Parts: sequence; structure tokens; C-alpha cells
Amino acid sequence: MSLDPSSVTIDFKNRRVLVTGAGKGIGRDTAVMLARYHAKVVAVSRTQADLKSLQDEIDCETIIADLGDAAAAKRAAEQAGDIDLLVNNAAIAILQPFLRTTPEAWDATMAVNLRAIVIVSQVVAAQMIRRGVAGSIVNVSSMAAFQALRDHAAYCASKAGLDQLTKVMAVELGEHGIRVNSVNPTVVLTEMGKRAWSDPAKGGPMLQRIPLNRFAECSDIASVICFLLSDAAGMLNALTLQIDGGFHAT
Ligand code: NDP
Repeated sequence: MSLDPSSVTIDFKNRRVLVTGAGKGIGRDTAVMLARYHAKVVAVSRTQADLKSLQDEIDCETIIADLGDAAAAKRAAEQAGDIDLLVNNAAIAILQPFLRTTPEAWDATMAVNLRAIVIVSQVVAAQMIRRGVAGSIVNVSSMAAFQALRDHAAYCASKAGLDQLTKVMAVELGEHGIRVNSVNPTVVLTEMGKRAWSDPAKGGPMLQRIPLNRFAECSDIASVICFLLSDAAGMLNALTLQIDGGFHAT
């Protein structure tokens, strides 16, 4: 697809975008930004009150689902109907030292952070292919895919797995014109981020390694997701894109 250089702009008019974990944090800002770019947002999350307040802010459809439940994840993706763009954002982080990582925490992490992405993407990509839509999928991964973070064994493993999943999806779906990329943010002080990094003893050394000398904001991540979803990123596929203020170079 060739774009007229004078007309390249981000506009999701007439595109339906499914965002998982849209109730809070990065997913919520992404849903809001997508709506500002005229997307029809379908927001999936677990807590009804969050989705209700999102609906007060933007015009969107909402689906309540616990994506850690395989059957519920499939139902939610099917209920979303025809989708042109997908953001797999929902994830959990259960902090445990490696020696005390429980099977329950491991399984719960993999169920939400990896299995749900497979299930939702299978449903969404199949209908994109059936409809001949050259869609785009962004998986929200993490710097934890590259960096070994203490107390994050299950989380790091899930995100490293997600990056490889992203690449396989990109390879197999590329022939249908569907692009699949991941974003790999540094710390964002959302509810999840605060639990892991608000203690200065932990957050301080991390901050020191970021050349821009700040953690990321939700909007820093949302804007890159919007770009990757857009036609302006038409030749970007199978990327694991670090959004880290230069941390990876240090
Ligand atoms: P938050 O915990 O702030 O928000 C996560 C959202 O996902 C919430 O709305 C939550 O709903 C929803 N969610 C979680 N589990 C499920 C589930 N089983 N079913 C449905 N919805 C669910 O997280 P962030 O915004 O910080 O994280 C968003 C993404 O960014 C994640 O993939 C995370 O791994 C990644 N990331 C975050 C970083 C950070 O420092 N914050 C850094 C790098 C990557 P509810 O609250 O109701 O459970």
C-alpha cells in the first residue's frame, strides 16, 4: 500500500479497535487516545467501575471479562465482533522471589500475559483474514522481556515469551497483510508500576540508567501504540520496540 506523503496522518475513522485491559493505566490512555483519533473503541477489562468511568470519558463499547479464564477470553473476543486493530495490553505482575515463585502465580501469569493473547488474537486475526482486512496488532510487552528483574521470574518469562509469540504471529499473519509488533516500555508508574518501583531503593537505580532521567508516562506508550497501529507504520512488522528513554543503550 502506497501513501501520499502529503496525506500521512493518524486517523482511525471507521476502524474498530479492541483494547484489552482498558480499565486502567496504559490500556486506558491508549483507548482514550484512539478515540481522539476517531477509532471505534471496544474496551475489555475486569472491573465494571473502570469501564463505566471510561465510557463517561469516551464513546466506546465495553466488555467485562477475566482474560485469565480461557473460555471467557474467547467469548470476549467473539463478542467484540469485527475488529480492524487489536491492542493486547492486559497483564498482571505477581512479585515473588524466584525461590518462592508458586505454581499458582506462575499459571495465573501465563494465563493472562500469554495464553489470553493467543486466544484473543486467534479469534481477531481469523475474522480479519475472512474479511480481507490488513489489520495491525500491538502486543504490550515490557523491558522485562530483555532485563532480568528481581522478583519478576514469572513476569519476565511471560514477556520474553510474548516477544517470540509476537514474531511468530508476524511471520504467519504477514502474508495476510496483518502486521504484529510489540512495545516494550520501561517503568510507568501505573498501579502495576507503583507496586514494583515506587520504593526509591528499587526505582532509584532504575531511573539512573534512563538517559532521559524520567520514567515513562502512559501517554508515551499510548502514542507509540497508535503509531504502530496506523498506516504510517505500514512497513513495521515483528518489532519489539523499546520505549525506555534510552535505557537499553546504557
Ligand atoms: P495496570 O495494572 O495499571 O492496568 C492493567 C489493566 O489490565 C487493568 O485495567 C486491569 O483490570 C486489566 N487486567 C488485568 N488482568 C486482567 C484480566 N485477567 N482480564 C481482564 N483485564 C485484566 O497495568 P499497566 O497499565 O501498568 O500495564 C499495562 C501493560 O503494560 C501490561 O501488559 C504491562 O505488563 C505492561 N507494562 C507495564 C509497565 C509498568 O511499569 N507499569 C512497564 C512495562 C510494561 P483490573 O484492574 O480490573 O484487574
